[in-house]
This record gives sequence, structure tokens and C-alpha cells, in this order.
Amino acid sequence: MARIAVLGAGLGGVIMAYELRDVLGKGHEVVVVNKGTTYSFVPSNPWVAVGWRDKEAIEVDLAPVFGKRDIRLHPQGAARVHPEENRIELSDGASVSYDFLVIATGPDLAFDEIEGFGPEHHTQSICHVDHALQAKAAFDRLVKNPGPVIIGAAQGASCYGPAYEFTFVLDKALRDAKVRDRVPMTFVTAEPYIGHLGLDGVGDTKTLLESEMRQHHVKWITNAKVDAVEAGRMLVSELAEDGALKASHALPFSYAMMLPAFRGVPAVRGIEGLTNPRGFILADRHQRNPTFRNVFSVGVCVAIPPVGKTPVPVGVPKTGFMIESMVTATAHNIARLVDGLEPEAEATWNAVCLADFGDGGVAFVAQPQIPPRNVNWSSSGKWVHAAKIGFEKYFLRKIRIGKSEPFYERLALQALGIDKLKAVKIDEQA
Ligand SMILES: Cc1cc2nc3c(=O)[nH]c(=O)nc-3n(C[C@H](O)[C@H](O)[C@H](O)COP(=O)(O)OP(=O)(O)OC[C@H]3O[C@@H](n4cnc5c(N)ncnc54)[C@H](O)[C@@H]3O)c2cc1C
Repeated sequence: MARIAVLGAGLGGVIMAYELRDVLGKGHEVVVVNKGTTYSFVPSNPWVAVGWRDKEAIEVDLAPVFGKRDIRLHPQGAARVHPEENRIELSDGASVSYDFLVIATGPDLAFDEIEGFGPEHHTQSICHVDHALQAKAAFDRLVKNPGPVIIGAAQGASCYGPAYEFTFVLDKALRDAKVRDRVPMTFVTAEPYIGHLGLDGVGDTKTLLESEMRQHHVKWITNAKVDAVEAGRMLVSELAEDGALKASHALPFSYAMMLPAFRGVPAVRGIEGLTNPRGFILADRHQRNPTFRNVFSVGVCVAIPPVGKTPVPVGVPKTGFMIESMVTATAHNIARLVDGLEPEAEATWNAVCLADFGDGGVAFVAQPQIPPRNVNWSSSGKWVHAAKIGFEKYFLRKIRIGKSEPFYERLALQALGIDKLKAVKIDEQA
């Protein structure tokens, strides 16, 4: 009997636990270590930040569904992983030992890397639902007292879709409140061009998103490095192609929301052989750590190099479907190891993404996520808004019922030609 521990119960960790349960059967133990017992659907945070969703509507209590699926939950959180001892040290001093570990901790949010940055200082965040609630209170103040707005993503950020999404969601919410005419908006981003998204664009996201910005009266600054934030003022260096200073900006704002750079969480950061210098988990093409061979990783915590050199550091996003493909590959590889075989499944890392604009949106499919690609498609329209709502409801239902990929989802993905696994098909492994 093997014990497989999953560290983190976010988007990647919860479906990881469900898929392990599916492929391993009752003979083996699946345990999850998380901070708390609640799952929260991060992609809905932009809606929480303008009051279109309540916190409770996007949360699931994991205790009952984990109980039903025979998954043990340790809600204390991890203080430190000790991979050389096959042990997770919990924050209350207890320990969980494991035969295999899947790390799915998501990011640590590096607000402290810029003076005055983040929800404890002068800028809002939508990375966590509690930040989004705080951003909602700031939005209410903005509606009462309109003024300039800055939205964007800081140097080293690896999550750009939500910054664009929030720009247009906020634009719509301000139009609904009839104050948009008194709110000049500027998009400030580390990306070298609008629509780069950390992926060197997908399809023609450059034209699509520039056009949307123009139509919604949003100005932008690219190749931007935020130097410091003061109350009501952001100091930004705009760099040229060669990295030289092109312009210095002191931007006034009444409201600012910017995505921070991500790094690995303290429980894993600095472990020789496990993480890179930013604390992201090193993984081979089977999601397996090259040093600690019984440790796998999925989601935002995985180390992925940038797609190319840019004047300001720009990271690669890890989107939902890409994470699900990492999960499926990991489940099958661990099942093979438990059976005494070698891992062979590889995640496709396909990006399928919907960025909602409140009354429209932009969708893109990148297969694989890193160019050159076999599929490189983007499109916009009202249907994206409806599709994003459908995705939210569908994903939360999967979490509530304890199933990672119901058969109809697999059929739909097959029909669209979107695979989660590269090397070995799921049915061949069963
Ligand atoms: C605002 C926003 C919107 C996004 N929208 C989309 C979208 O529309 N579509 C899309 O495809 N992708 C989207 N993403 C990207 C991505 O899908 C999400 O970030 C996703 O939640 C990442 O999943 P994850 O499992 O890697 O991390 P998370 O979902 O962040 O989960 C990590 C979990 O690990 C836990 N944890 C951390 N440290 C510890 C510890 N020491 N001990 C125990 N537990 C710990 C956390 O509490 C959390 O539960 C969005 C990202 C953001 C930030």
C-alpha cells in the first residue's frame, strides 16, 4: 500500500487528489495537506472585485467530498517539506510521511519586491479571494469619488490574462455605475507589447487586445518596470528594446490593481535540488523532480523558463487546462511507479483560455503553450462571456461532486482535438 500526499488544494491539487483516487483505487492512501478546508475558484476573483460574485458562491467545503472519496485532509498547512526524509512538516509541528508527493502549492505573491506595492500598501490584488474583497471596497470608494485608474502586471509577473480581463471588467462596472467618463484608465505591463501574455502572443492577440484597449479608451505603457508606489502615485520606468531607460513616469491614481511577480512558497523555497532560485519546483517532462524522484509537481508552482528574452522580465503563465494536463500526466505516472513501472505520460501543456470582459471577451488556444505551435488561435465576441460563466459553474461542479474529468468532458475534448496527454493515451494506460 502506497501513501500519496498532495500539497495544496487549489485548482491543481484538488483534481490531482480526485485523479489519483481514480487511477489508484482503494488499496492506496491519498492525503491532502492544505491551508484550511475550503476550495476557492481563483478565475472568478475579478468578478468578486466588482461585486458580481459573492465569496461564498465560488467556494467549496472540501471536507464532505473528500470524506466521500476517501481522501484524508490535513488543513493545518505545511511549514516545510523535507524531501530527503519523505516527510511534510505541518504548521502545528505534526508530520505527514509519504511514498510519493505531488506539490501543488500555487504561487507565493511577491508584493514585497516593490516598495509600496500590494494590498497591505497602495495597490489592490485579485490573486486571492480576500484580496478581491478588499479591492471591491476600494472599487466602491472609486465609484463615490472617481479618478485615474492603473491596471496591469509588474515586472516578473507570469499571469497577464487576468490583468486584461480585470481592465475590461472594471471598465464595464464603471460604465454601469455611470462614472466611466470621470475615470482615465492606463494599463501598465512588463510585456514588450500588448497581447504578448507571457507567450509571445497567441494567434493575433496583439491586434485583438490593442483594438479592445482603443475601443474602451484605455491607454497603455509596455516594457514597464514599477519602481515604487506611493499613496496616489506610481513611479514607472519604461524601457527601450535594448533595456535602456526610454521614459520615467509618475502616474497619479485613485485606484490601482496590479498582478505581482510570483515565486515558490516558503515551505519549499531554497531546497537544493527541489527548486530553482525563485522557489519554483524543478520538473522533467513527466512532472517528476530530477533529484527527488518520488516528488512531482503541478500548477503554478512548476518551474518553466520564459519564452524568450524581453527588456523587462516576463514569466510564462500556467493556465487552467495546462494545469489539468499536468495533473493527468502525474496521476498516470504515479500509478505506473506504484505498479513498478517507469513513468511515460507527458502533459501536452496546451493553453485553452477565456478572458471575460463583462459583456464580451477574448478566447485563445495555444497547442502547445510554448511556440512554435500546432494550433495558434484567438478570437473575440460576446460568446466568451457566456462561456466563462459556463466554465465557472462546470469547474465548481466537478470539485463538488469529486470528479476530475467526467466522460462527457473527455468526449468533448476529443471532438475538439484537445488532448491532455502527449505520449500515452489515457485508455492505453488503464
Ligand atoms: C486572478 C487570476 C485569475 C485567473 N483566471 C484564470 C482563467 O480564467 N483561466 C485559466 O485557465 N487560468 C486562470 N488563472 C491561472 C490559474 O488557473 C490559477 O492561478 C489556478 O488557481 C492555479 O492553480 P494552482 O493549483 O497552481 O494554485 P492555486 O489554485 O493557487 O492553489 C494553491 C493551493 O496551495 C495552498 N498552499 C499554499 N501554500 C501551502 C502550504 N504551505 N501548505 C498547504 N497548502 C498550501 C493554497 O492555500 C492553495 O489552496 C488565473 C489566475 C489568477 C491569479
